[in-house]
Amino acid sequence: MNAPATLNAAQMEAVQYLHGPCLVLAGAGSGKTRVITHKIARLLQAGLPPKRIAAITFTNKAALEMRERAKSLVGARAAKDLAISTFHSLGVRMLREDGEQLGLKQNFSILDADDVLGVIRDAGSCTDNSLARRWQWTISLWKNQGFDSARAMAAAQNDDERVAAKVMALYEERLAAYQAVDFDDLISLPLKLVTTCPAAQEKWLNQFGHVLVDEYQDTNAVQYELLKGLVNHPDESKRGMFTAVGDDDQSIYGWRGATIENLKKLPQEFPSLKVIPLEQNYRSTSAILRAANEVIAGNPKIFPKKLWSEHGDGEPVRVVECDGEEHEADRAVARIQAVRATDPRIKFSDFAILYRANHLARAFEQKLRAAQVPYKVSGGQSFFDKAEIKDLCAWLRLLVNQDDDPAFLRAVTTPKRGIGHTTIGKLGEFSGKWKTSMFEALFAESLPSALSAKAIGSLHEFGRYVNDLEYKARTTTGAEDAKALMLGWLKDIGYEQHLYDTEDSEKLAASRWSNVLDFVDWVAKRCGGEITQEGGTFESEKKSVLDVAQTISVILSLAERGDEQDQVVLSTLHASKGLEWPHVILVGVNEGLLPFKADDEEMSVERLEEERRLMYVGITRAQKTLVVSTLRRRKKGRDTVAGIPSRFIAEMKLNQAGSGEDPKDRLKRLRAELAAKSAAAAPAAE
Ligand code: ATP
Ligand code: MG
Repeated sequence: MNAPATLNAAQMEAVQYLHGPCLVLAGAGSGKTRVITHKIARLLQAGLPPKRIAAITFTNKAALEMRERAKSLVGARAAKDLAISTFHSLGVRMLREDGEQLGLKQNFSILDADDVLGVIRDAGSCTDNSLARRWQWTISLWKNQGFDSARAMAAAQNDDERVAAKVMALYEERLAAYQAVDFDDLISLPLKLVTTCPAAQEKWLNQFGHVLVDEYQDTNAVQYELLKGLVNHPDESKRGMFTAVGDDDQSIYGWRGATIENLKKLPQEFPSLKVIPLEQNYRSTSAILRAANEVIAGNPKIFPKKLWSEHGDGEPVRVVECDGEEHEADRAVARIQAVRATDPRIKFSDFAILYRANHLARAFEQKLRAAQVPYKVSGGQSFFDKAEIKDLCAWLRLLVNQDDDPAFLRAVTTPKRGIGHTTIGKLGEFSGKWKTSMFEALFAESLPSALSAKAIGSLHEFGRYVNDLEYKARTTTGAEDAKALMLGWLKDIGYEQHLYDTEDSEKLAASRWSNVLDFVDWVAKRCGGEITQEGGTFESEKKSVLDVAQTISVILSLAERGDEQDQVVLSTLHASKGLEWPHVILVGVNEGLLPFKADDEEMSVERLEEERRLMYVGITRAQKTLVVSTLRRRKKGRDTVAGIPSRFIAEMKLNQAGSGEDPKDRLKRLRAELAAKSAAAAPAAE
């Protein structure tokens, strides 16, 4: 849309300012992220080596994109060594390099949310998944506030929280024994490292000459402290070398512990902070921007901001009312096709369909598929993220590489096979001490001294089973044999029963089992040499189950990429942050959905404000056109209920932009006009 290398005066000021802490506080699409990439180039030009420049983004995808942008500005060689990452991957790096100072072995395992749930369920001896999830949630919030279980216990307000704090203590013990960390630890442990280990503190304070943080409004308390651990140099002349950019109106992770306090704290804790506002929006038309500004005006202004655009009014923002989810999806698909029909240069990837909750994606996926419109679901759960598929992949990964500790941990505990956490904890300690993988430790001669004969027996049995399965997987080829092998394996480990034992409802268990069977078929087909690609199915050589397992990790990483392809994007509002598309369709804009409200929820003012910020984020993703669709009837569980348009639609004040016409009258008028037009366009129908 614009020449890539230009900056306006305010952006330039932020880029040129290298003397100390700098905060760019500005609205959506004003070029905050652009400031970061250009500032990286400026810092290199000023002589800072690439590895001494850290840029912190909110998602891995944003990190990849930032590196690409940096590459085009400074060349591939310099871009390669830049420390561009999320807070979490920076945390991984810090722990791999220095975690030993906290007693963590170098190849510690990282548990994902499902793994964590399993450990928590176990720690609390709990069979009720929803209770375990609540514990998981509470524990995570505590960790994000920097609490350990002792502080959590002190802070607990009621019996429920006290129980959660107790579970947290057991959970902490287990993680330590397993030599494993969870996602929250990836921030809190590095923080512990730079606050309690003098050598690490010194190292990391001097590691980076400048730290840049995008989407600063969504950092939580622990991340803020970690940032300080990187920039709070005792030497005044080296202190506070960072640039943070953010927009308080786009803070949408309050529920995960992000806090606006971090914005307020900055000027207090860094009195020399230079604050630079940006006012010109380069992304959207004025019509879209006006709607966004109107909506966000409903929230109290913490940091008042102006935002204007030079792109002209463009097309008006449109509101469409739909009869139900299917109708809404039909309309969206029709819109995409209609807009594309106006200009052959318009790509599928110019469109995004954005929604508040993941389950809303389903109708769109089905309709897009039926219309053969390529799409990808971003920020939602892809097939490969489902717990049952990850279980099976962990097993397959273990067959490929017995030293993959996270895979081992998952496989040895899923399904349960009488190998308890004490045993695994001891095995973890043992492997940490002898610097072997956990699987290798199974057969170590000195292991029996650490464990009971019974435990050793179970471990050996597991180890032998894996070795045996590995042999079979290596030697079994062809679709049918592969399928038989896999079904036999699932039977051996009792996987179907495991699903019924751990899932709350039979229906859910059955649906998960059917995912498993889909997965088995998918692997089997590949063993038969069948590969389906765009344009048809191809036959190639037969493969062994192990060969296919080896490619699974590659396929998983492919599933994450694919951005380059021409696909409509389906995304949650949360995952759309920082991104932009020429054409955006914001769907399910109904009371209860956006603002989202759980049935039993008393919606607080703060919650409503966060929902309003989400709406603001959604609107401001659009560059040229924005359609907001709302449901007259919507599904709720098995029922259909009347749909009420979201209050945010009225708040956009669309009717006031031009004529002052009432939206209902306007809708009537437009319908009449449309009917007249189509009557004129279809003269000889009979
Ligand atoms: P968000 O708040 O949504 O993260 P942002 O403030 O980070 O937005 P950017 O994504 O950096 O904004 O920029 C928005 C769009 O405007 C991008 O397409 C960017 O290339 C363009 N842009 C930014 N600054 C300029 C400029 N000075 N001249 C031309 N285009 C610009
Ligand atoms: Mg941005």
